[in-house]
Amino acid sequence: MGYGHLDRPAQFMKGVGPRRADSLKKLSVGTARDLLYHVPRRYDDASTIQSIESLKVGDDATIRGRVRSSGVIPTRSGLRIFQAVLQDASGMITCAWPGQPWLDRKIREGDQLLVTGPVKFFHGRQLHPREFTTLARAGDPGQGEDGQEAGTVFTSYPATDALPQWVLRRIYEENLDWLLEHADEEEYLPPELRERLGLPGLQEAFRRLHRPRSLDETEPGRRRLAFDEFFFLQLVQALARYRQTEVEPGIVHTRTNELIRPLHESLPFELTGAQARVLREIYGDMASPRRMNRFLQGDVGAGKTLVALFAMLLSVEGGRQGALMAPTELLAEQHHLKLQELLEPLEIPVALLTGSVTGRAREELLEGLREGRTPLVVGTHALIQEGVEFRNLGLVVVDEQHRFGVRQRMALVEEAEKGPRPDVLVMSATPIPRSLALTLYGDLELSVLDELPPGRRPVRTLLRYPSGRQEVYAGVRKELEAGRQGYIVYPLVEESEKTDLRAATQEYERLAREVFPERRLGLLHGQLPAEEKEAVMRAFRDGELDLLVSTTVIEVGIDVPNATVMVIEHAERFGLSQLHQLRGRVGRGAEASWCVLIAEPGEMARERLEVFAATNDGFEIARADLRIRGQGDLFGSQQHGRDPLLRFADLTTDAELLEQARALARKVVAADPELKDPRHERIRTILEHRHAERLRMWKVG
Ligand code: ADP
Ligand code: MG
Repeated sequence: MGYGHLDRPAQFMKGVGPRRADSLKKLSVGTARDLLYHVPRRYDDASTIQSIESLKVGDDATIRGRVRSSGVIPTRSGLRIFQAVLQDASGMITCAWPGQPWLDRKIREGDQLLVTGPVKFFHGRQLHPREFTTLARAGDPGQGEDGQEAGTVFTSYPATDALPQWVLRRIYEENLDWLLEHADEEEYLPPELRERLGLPGLQEAFRRLHRPRSLDETEPGRRRLAFDEFFFLQLVQALARYRQTEVEPGIVHTRTNELIRPLHESLPFELTGAQARVLREIYGDMASPRRMNRFLQGDVGAGKTLVALFAMLLSVEGGRQGALMAPTELLAEQHHLKLQELLEPLEIPVALLTGSVTGRAREELLEGLREGRTPLVVGTHALIQEGVEFRNLGLVVVDEQHRFGVRQRMALVEEAEKGPRPDVLVMSATPIPRSLALTLYGDLELSVLDELPPGRRPVRTLLRYPSGRQEVYAGVRKELEAGRQGYIVYPLVEESEKTDLRAATQEYERLAREVFPERRLGLLHGQLPAEEKEAVMRAFRDGELDLLVSTTVIEVGIDVPNATVMVIEHAERFGLSQLHQLRGRVGRGAEASWCVLIAEPGEMARERLEVFAATNDGFEIARADLRIRGQGDLFGSQQHGRDPLLRFADLTTDAELLEQARALARKVVAADPELKDPRHERIRTILEHRHAERLRMWKVG
């Protein structure tokens, strides 16, 4: 079928050979296909390149020119400066790289360079390159006098020391025609569909990216690759969803209102509009013969636990059991207490199963679950261990807080699948924008609690410089004197966990000795064993500690209503979403709460922090965070080197493309879940051939 040319090892491409093939591998390029996907990282043309003659001091400019002379100049202070005089048709300018004498070995007379940087005044005009690219090497036989014709676009590829720009450009010059000729072998979108989506064909897309005739030709090329990226990710997830929800029959829950109504009536408040809507979505899934696999996200305090309880009661009304799984013992205990409180008027028991429940008590609990006498249970991973059997489990709620990670989640669902096939509800307290949620959780249906119960007092957030620390401490002291508790949080210091630990430990000792000698302080950091961490948190929860000094390990979701103040040191080092999670630890009781961010003066950080201080809306903060930090940071563990989740797509700008790709993926799977239809052959081949790892990860391989 003509598929497979692009599998040719890069080594056998023109001008490559074994040594360059090794260097290409370091750029994650192993095949002809990888060469196609290794697209330029920047483009320049006459509209971005200035003539040397026109440069003015103060400009930030990009120029292209040939090296006329070069050398290293020592200075009296011992700094060595590499200088090169660049010439284009209009004139000459000196470029200077202070402190980079080694460039003498890289840049030669006669080289054609593209450089970008500020133009300064130093014995006349001088350009200080921030970035440079060797477009062509002196005397390189493959290049004409000017490398490329005037009026064309200059492409700069991601390059390395071993594989500099000019070598890559040569490789593309020699191979691009052949590569483009075969690019359409992987075209899976029929022309009508491409037209409807406004996307170019693959061959056209790669041509636009590698050999654009003008700068604005490249964007549609990128959009096409972004669509493909979204499509195959959504396709794998749609297949996973199909396996999880459709293949084996799920439970059809029946509602009697025997329990749901009394719970409603016993609540001292009305459900929020968002809670009511989300419950309808959940009940709809649970009553259908498809298995529910739903993701519920909502800010801290949005009322997720109550929603989970209503869902579990539907399961119990139909004679089945419900389980809620939390990531730590402490959180399990907390959920357990809350559910007990809510269920008191209904006289329904809730069991608690953690690693600490042992001996007789454990035996009895397990028997209750096995025989169905225990309708509801809250627990940790202990719930999915050997020896735990349910008589008739109808719903599993997984409270995963901020720990997203496909692998762990799939493992949990997988475990739950060993019994009958209960419905699954995953809850997260980390608000994320829809585009990110669809990318990470595309196999789940999404429910969003985007409304807080009325009457919440927002946490007041203040910004302070380090010089104002004493005043901040005075404020904290006042809260503690009123019988309240507080947190002081330190960021992770990059160098090593050890330094981080030392910093927190030293600060803890200083605070205990000099600042709050009359108070009970606790220290929490990442290197404490899990049990000790829990012991410290427990002591704080039980009021045995006044002030908790901590690195960022404070348990998300932990609820200490008496804690009314949080001080965050070096706030500029945190992402906004992380700050929001931290801030969520206060403001959980009836008292007014506040959060103080201590940050070094500095424009950018200040602006970001002001955005944060101005709102308590987690979704708004998450969108700002995505915009400011970019998506790479947010993928965390899933961004493992060779197979980044998204290379071409941008979640902040491509949200509509993502929805289109998702709709198409779901349509394909709904019509042809095995991808057997000849019209889907290309899709299946690409999937099996290029996304095998992902298929395995999502357990659809
Ligand atoms: P989450 O789990 O989303 O952080 P919770 O379920 O713990 O939030 O709810 C936080 C608090 O708000 C609880 O004390 C809960 O009883 C209360 N609550 C939940 N829903 C409502 C509502 N609709 N109106 C008023 N209070 C509510
Ligand atoms: Mg169902």
